[in-house]
Amino acid sequence: MHLNFDIQSLTQFKTLLRQSERIVVTTHHNPDGDAIGSVLGMYHILCREGIDATIISPNGFPEFLAWLPEASQIIKYSQQKETGNKLIAEADLILCLDFNGFRRTETMEKTLAESPAKKILIDHHPDPENTFDIQFSFTEVSSTAELVYEIAYELFGNNSIDKNAAECLYVGIMTDTGSFSYACSRKRTFDIAGELVGKGVAVDRVQGLVYNNYSASRMQLLGYCLSEKMRVFPEHCAAYLWLSKDELNRFAHKTGDTEGFVNYPLSIKGIVFSVLFIENDGFVKISLRSRGKFPVNEFSKKYYTGGGHTNAAGGKAYAPMADVIQQFEDLLKLHSNELNASKQI
Ligand code: 5GP
Ligand code: MN
Repeated sequence: MHLNFDIQSLTQFKTLLRQSERIVVTTHHNPDGDAIGSVLGMYHILCREGIDATIISPNGFPEFLAWLPEASQIIKYSQQKETGNKLIAEADLILCLDFNGFRRTETMEKTLAESPAKKILIDHHPDPENTFDIQFSFTEVSSTAELVYEIAYELFGNNSIDKNAAECLYVGIMTDTGSFSYACSRKRTFDIAGELVGKGVAVDRVQGLVYNNYSASRMQLLGYCLSEKMRVFPEHCAAYLWLSKDELNRFAHKTGDTEGFVNYPLSIKGIVFSVLFIENDGFVKISLRSRGKFPVNEFSKKYYTGGGHTNAAGGKAYAPMADVIQQFEDLLKLHSNELNASKQI
């Protein structure tokens, strides 16, 4: 056993999987590569075990994930509310992957909370809520996809993961670690990636499908953003980027286009904290990243009603962009000592 699983929880989970007739697998709002890779990976594993499941995502996912095997089966709650509500209300078992509280599913929160189904948490974010019947919560894994692999391995053995599952789980691990460059200090992460390659994942093909699949206008948006919309504060070891709705429209923005932008300022020497502000309807969506010890999840929780991991978090601010940015610049001054201390590590 590679993680400190509670044996009783594993046994209970296996029994529930075998006994339940209506199983829903779900994830967080604005699902990323790990969220979609994990739910699809789990779906393929269950299928191979003869267990039926339905996948529901709170909303759409980026196009660069659409090639994943059976991605077209995913029900988007934002587009099929009635179907989604019925499936959730009538489910016996709901698997909650890559999020730590119902609030992270946004519009699905109430339906999920009210469903009489048993709810299983499978996640790698800190501080899970106490609303799940069984919790598999491990912050030491790179990604939820890695945890899905470990659970499948314990429950059904290595054969339960076929090539389809392997591709999905590989994408989850690859995207949550920035292609194995962070959040993967556990040797086991690489062992699992190796296992998945052994099952037929073609690394260069998958990398290409996810990262070399953008539109020209997305590339131009990135260029514009870095050149015109980046402010760097070397004295606070920080930088931020910001984009308005008009700018996104000008570059024919599609879901997922700004994914990864926030990481770029972290390649500037001495920068340990990077934030991306994106104007939305009625709020500003905020993505936060850090290198080293500066906990962006705590920062986001405190100022942006958000959360996430130590080095990757998200949140929202319900104020005009100019005010959000002004407040952020003030916050940089307030946290300057902490940020400078984080640089030395
Ligand atoms: P992103 O910047 O890619 O939206 O999110 C980065 C990380 O923070 C992901 O692990 C994501 O699950 C988490 N995250 C994003 N938005 C929120 C939020 O509003 N609340 C919480 N608790 N976590 C978030
Ligand atoms: Mn994740």
